[in-house]
Amino acid sequence: MQSLKRKIIIKVDEQKYLLVNPYTGLADIIDEETCQLLQHDSISVDSDTIRTLQARGHIVHEGDEEDLLDYLEQQAKKLHQEALQYHNHCLIPTYGCNLRCLYCYEKHMYKNEVKLTPVMNKKTVDAFFSTILSMDSDGPQRLITLYGGEPLQLKNKEIIQYILSLGNSHGYTFEVVTNGADFQHFVPLLSTVSVKSVQITLDGPERIHDARRFRPGKKGTFQDITRGIDMAVDHDIPVKIRINVDSDNLDHIPEFADFYQEKGWYPAAKAYACSVRSSSCSPYTRVIPPEDFSRKMIDLFVHDRRMELFPGTFGSFNFVFGHLFLGTPLKKRFWGCSAHTSLFFYDPFGDIYACGEAVGHKEHRIGTFLPELTLNENYHNWRGRTIHTVPECADCSLSLFCGGACAFKAYLKNGSIYSPYCDHAKSSVEHEAKYLYHLMETRGTMLSH
Ligand code: SF4
Ligand code: SF4
Repeated sequence: MQSLKRKIIIKVDEQKYLLVNPYTGLADIIDEETCQLLQHDSISVDSDTIRTLQARGHIVHEGDEEDLLDYLEQQAKKLHQEALQYHNHCLIPTYGCNLRCLYCYEKHMYKNEVKLTPVMNKKTVDAFFSTILSMDSDGPQRLITLYGGEPLQLKNKEIIQYILSLGNSHGYTFEVVTNGADFQHFVPLLSTVSVKSVQITLDGPERIHDARRFRPGKKGTFQDITRGIDMAVDHDIPVKIRINVDSDNLDHIPEFADFYQEKGWYPAAKAYACSVRSSSCSPYTRVIPPEDFSRKMIDLFVHDRRMELFPGTFGSFNFVFGHLFLGTPLKKRFWGCSAHTSLFFYDPFGDIYACGEAVGHKEHRIGTFLPELTLNENYHNWRGRTIHTVPECADCSLSLFCGGACAFKAYLKNGSIYSPYCDHAKSSVEHEAKYLYHLMETRGTMLSH
């Protein structure tokens, strides 16, 4: 017998280790001695502990794990083919934006022609719909995400109304990613169509948020955004509040939790914190490096219980922690995100991209929809990235939880999307597991999600 080659062992305190079976998500606490034993090439079943670990799938017969890996690779191919049938059509009505956030990762585009582009006209919107209808004729879902730039700008209301009305008449459901500044003016309109979710960014208490996310001329947006969220909650529109965190606002997030609780937005509007994205094109010095982000975030959770209002901060990226500590069902992750399956971003130039951060970078364009639908070699490259096609990921114990992580970050770091981006998975194993385990042990309960 032998222990799983891809076992995950995380030291959770001086004497205890969390042993995770990456194939089933089963986890057990073991001591130092058992931990050492599991490192041996061959293990004899001669104690109750070993028998229990065998029953839990941590110890297997020689060759069993290889068979399982072959099976999983076949399963991954099948699931990937199925996932390709789903399309999430992300429409970028304009690259323009009504805010000038300090850390905007699209900032470089203000300086060139991309940001000067007018908003999509009806002719382009019609071409978009004829493209997606041809793709979705017998597809399993009809979904449009409004994306940007900023899609919900008051000055563009007429074309947004046109898009919502056409989508609605063809049976599409909508998701929206918005900065929320003009959102209040769209709530009545959105309440007349099917909306799956609206993601809005709020970066902390009013004075902190307004110093980071403002209109041209530095006019803050906190009041406008919160008014919009109030209206959405009243209209039963599901909202996700994204808190972009960097070293400037990290310490103010607990104070925002007070405001969030007073508002009574939960659970209609769930909030979570995530790291401000760095961009190679617009360097921003306040970004917390990925290897520090988990640790700093955990420190905050440990020292301030108000942070527990934001459990979605964990588990959204790392499925194993979502499963072990937040009670979400275990789902194996064979690829990093939907850029490798269902995402299509359509921009005002008639170009199509697979990734939300790659939009506007022509070298990543996967095709066009003007004058007609074409898909190029990039399309196959983006869709082909799975844990089985990135060599480092194919051999990695964390792969089923990590999925190979973000292809675009891998590209920025290593120059190729066919390379790993391990930062988040590794720091999450190192810091998050320990904290979440202790929380569970001291409270005897999982975080509510
Ligand atoms: S990105 Fe890194 S941690 Fe994630 S699966 Fe690949 S090698 Fe493993
Ligand atoms: S590749 Fe990275 S940036 Fe692009 S959509 Fe996926 S997670 Fe987002």
